[in-house]
Amino acid sequence: MSDTKTTPAPGDRTVIGVTFGNSNSSIAYTVDDKAEVIANEDGDRQIPTILSYVDGEEYYGQQAKAFLVRNSKNTVAYFRDFLGKDFKSIDPTHNHASVHPEDVDGSVSFTLTDEEGEDATPSTLSVSEISTRYLRRLVNSASEYLGKKVTSAVITIPTNFNDKQKAALIAAAAAADLEVLQLISEPVAAVVAYDARPEVEIKDKIVVVADLGGTRSDVTVVASRGGLYTILATAHDYDFAGATLDKVLIDHFAKEFAKRNQGIDPRENARSLAKLKFEAEATKRALSLSTNANFSIESLAEGIDFSSTINRLRYETIARSVFEGFNRLVESVIKKAGLDVLDVDEVILSGGTAHTPRIAANFGAIFPESTNILAPSTTPAAINPSELQARGAALQASLIQEYEAEDIDQSTHAAVTTVPHITNAIGVLSVSQSGDEVFVPVVFPETAVPARRTVIVAAPKNGGDVLIKIVEGNTHIKVTQPQPKANGDNSKAAKVEDANSDEDSDFSDDEEEEEEKREKVWKVGATLAEAAIRGVKKGGKVEISINVNADLAVTVTAREVGAKGGVRGQLNA
Ligand code: ATP
Ligand code: MG
Repeated sequence: MSDTKTTPAPGDRTVIGVTFGNSNSSIAYTVDDKAEVIANEDGDRQIPTILSYVDGEEYYGQQAKAFLVRNSKNTVAYFRDFLGKDFKSIDPTHNHASVHPEDVDGSVSFTLTDEEGEDATPSTLSVSEISTRYLRRLVNSASEYLGKKVTSAVITIPTNFNDKQKAALIAAAAAADLEVLQLISEPVAAVVAYDARPEVEIKDKIVVVADLGGTRSDVTVVASRGGLYTILATAHDYDFAGATLDKVLIDHFAKEFAKRNQGIDPRENARSLAKLKFEAEATKRALSLSTNANFSIESLAEGIDFSSTINRLRYETIARSVFEGFNRLVESVIKKAGLDVLDVDEVILSGGTAHTPRIAANFGAIFPESTNILAPSTTPAAINPSELQARGAALQASLIQEYEAEDIDQSTHAAVTTVPHITNAIGVLSVSQSGDEVFVPVVFPETAVPARRTVIVAAPKNGGDVLIKIVEGNTHIKVTQPQPKANGDNSKAAKVEDANSDEDSDFSDDEEEEEEKREKVWKVGATLAEAAIRGVKKGGKVEISINVNADLAVTVTAREVGAKGGVRGQLNA
C-alpha cells in the first residue's frame, strides 16, 4: 500500500475512531461489532495531547506530559481548540506553563527547538503542523497495535466546531496521511457507544450528555428517536472543568506548604507550579477511586520536600463551588432545550472529570429517580467515561468504512442540529375503562422526520365500532403543593420561630416539610384526525400507523389487526 495515498479505496481501508481533545486523545477500533480503546506503546488509553522535543527527539503523550516540568519551553500542550482559529479569538490561559501560542499573520503558531545540537535554530510551527505531528503519532500507535497501517478514521469534534475548524482538522489529518471518513460530534459519539451495547433496546429517549473534560465542559441534550440523534441544545463552559479542580487542590496544598515553610508560596515559581499541577491531577484522580489520597512532591520549592494527604470529604468541601458550576450548566442546557428534568431519560457522564463520584451524585439529586445516571460511581453498567467518544467513533468508522468517500454524508451526522423534527407529540386519544380520555403518545416530541411509528390498541371488550382520535400532545409539568398541615396558622408560627433558632432545628424542619410533587403529564392539543373502524370483533385490536413526512405532512392508517381494509387518511399538521 502506498504511504502517500490519503483517500484509499473502501476495500483497502483500515479504520479507527479517534478523539482528539485539548487534554487527552484516544484511539479505538471495532472488532466483531465491539469497540475497544487501544493502548499506545506506553500502555496508555488516555493519551495526553502533548508533544515535547528533547535533543531533536519527539515525545508524545504521557512522556511528553512529564516534560512539562523540565522542558516546558519545548513542550506544546492544549492546542486542539486553536485549529482553524484566528489568533485574536483564542484563549491562551492553559498555555502559560508550556510553549506560548504566537500570532503569525493572524493564525496560531508555536516556536520551539525540535532539532538536535547546541546551535539548533528554533522552528516556528503552525497549530496545523503541530496537530499533524500529533495525529501522526496517534495513527502510528494504532497501526503498530493492529499490525497494519491505519488509513482512515472517524474523528469526534465538539458541537461548536465551525466549518473552518472542521476543514483545518481534516487538512491536518490528511497531512498525517489519515483520511477523515467523517467528523461526528462528541456527545453523539458517547450516545452511540452506549446504544451499541447488545443488551440495549433502542427506544425513543431524551439523553443529556455531560462531557466534563480538562479545559472545557460541554453539555448537550440529544433526542434519540428511531435510532436518529437530534441535538436539541448545547452549552459550553471554559471555567468549570478538570483544570479548575486541579487548581482547587494546588491552592489548598500550596497554602499548607507555605504555612509549614515560613510563607514560601510554591505557586510563584514556574517549575514548582508545574510540579504542583502534575501531583494535584494525580491526587484528584486517586480521590475518584478511594476516600483518601496522598500528595507528595520531592523538592517542591527551595529544595524542600512536601508530603500531605487529603480525604474525599475535604476535597468535596473545598471544590464545592466547582461542582455546583457543573450542576448549573446541566440545568441551564435543559432549560435551553425547553425541557424539564422530568423529560430526561438518561444522563451520560463523559470525559475524564466524569469519573468524580460527587459530580454523579449531584446530578442524581437534580434528576428524578426515573432518570438513569450513567456514571462509574452510580451504576456497574457504566462504560468508562474516558473511552466513550473513541468507542462511538470506532463504531461509526466500522459502519461507514465500506462507503466511497463521496457517499458519506457529512451533514447528517456532524451537524445533526439541522435535522427537521416535530415539536409536539402525535398520539391516540382513547377512552379508558373508567371512561376518562387518555392520551397515548405514538410519535414523541423532537422526533426527527420523516418518521413512522405504529401502535396497537385494544378495542372495547365487546368489539363493535371503534372511534379513533389522532391528536397532538405535549407534556407539561404538574406541580402538586404539599397539603397544608392540619392547623395551618400554628405551623406558620412554628416556622418563623425555626428560622431564628439554631441550625439543627432548621434542618429537622426541612426534613418534616413535604416537598412539592412534580410530575410530567400529557396535555392534549389539536385533533388531527378522527376515524371510525366498524364492527371490530370481540377482543379485537386496532393497529394505528402514523407517518410524518419530511415536510411534516401526517398520514394516519388504522385497521383492525388480522382484518382486511381499514381507514387511511392524509392530513397536514
Ligand atoms: P478538554 O478538551 O476539555 O481539555 P479532553 O476531552 O481532552 O479535555 P478528558 O480526558 O475528557 O480530556 O478529560 C481530562 C480531565 O479529566 C483532566 O482534568 C483529568 O485530570 C480528568 N480526569 C481523568 N481521569 C480522572 C479521574 N479518574 N477522576 C477525576 N478526574 C479525572
Ligand atoms: Mg473532551
